[in-house]
Amino acid sequence: MSRLTREGWLDRHDYLRGIAEVSACLDRVAAGLPDGAPSLLAWDGHQDEFLAGVPLLQSSNVVIDLEPVGRSVIALVERLAADPAAEKMAAEAGALAAELKHDRDAPGRIVSWLLGDESWTPVAPGLLTLLGWTAMRRFLASIVEGFARWRDEERWLRNYCPLCGLGPVMAQLIGKDPGRKRLLVCGRCATRWQYKRTRCPYCEHDVERTSILAVEGEGGLRIDHCESCLGYVKTYDGEGDEALLLADWTSLHLDLLAVGRGWKRLASSLYALPPDAAAVEEPA
Ligand SMILES: [Zn+2]
Ligand SMILES: [Zn+2]
Repeated sequence: MSRLTREGWLDRHDYLRGIAEVSACLDRVAAGLPDGAPSLLAWDGHQDEFLAGVPLLQSSNVVIDLEPVGRSVIALVERLAADPAAEKMAAEAGALAAELKHDRDAPGRIVSWLLGDESWTPVAPGLLTLLGWTAMRRFLASIVEGFARWRDEERWLRNYCPLCGLGPVMAQLIGKDPGRKRLLVCGRCATRWQYKRTRCPYCEHDVERTSILAVEGEGGLRIDHCESCLGYVKTYDGEGDEALLLADWTSLHLDLLAVGRGWKRLASSLYALPPDAAAVEEPA
């Protein structure tokens, strides 16, 4: 059940149009990438590490060959550099393409860098992060699904992604009491995993009562904030509009609102806050 459209959302949040164009441009250049990894892995080999809190991409028993992602990223960089509609991004992509062109080890280097290896610094790290995780997300899509079917959510309940290891970017509340659950959302690989409803995912402090800032007319989005660490989590209290409302960039105005209140943006986001965007009206 989807009620919101991207265009309708942008009509009401005009200041998101800049970032929406970036997102549309990434989708455009990524269209037609080769198929991703197979969803059938020897999952049970990961069981011990899973129980010990090791994310799947760091598993030593279930090894996924990510080199194709590195090659896809290079293809994306080249397509973007040649895209007449990409404007400012095309220049950055051109610089990246030149850097990667004669580097035989580039695919492996890109993948290691995306997963946290800092021994290399690319010329345009922000753009490479966006392109890299666009390609990685597509490649991993069926693994995200297969992993969700295999794993026992009750035995993870950690504050980082069971697949790629990153902290959450957002949260979602699903179902009805007594079975109501909170999922945390990964901003890189799009995994959603279960977490305790009353615990702050940043400082892991249990809160008796979460402080909630509901924002009028925002499709069920709200901001839960923690009084211990002042971190906050943008939360979608609903189902059906995940693709739009859990995309993170579609709610950057709520980050501005939260930061304006003095709360800390501890979310692992791929997006910088737009400096010139106007925050939404504070609810009365
Ligand atoms: Zn992840
Ligand atoms: Zn906290």
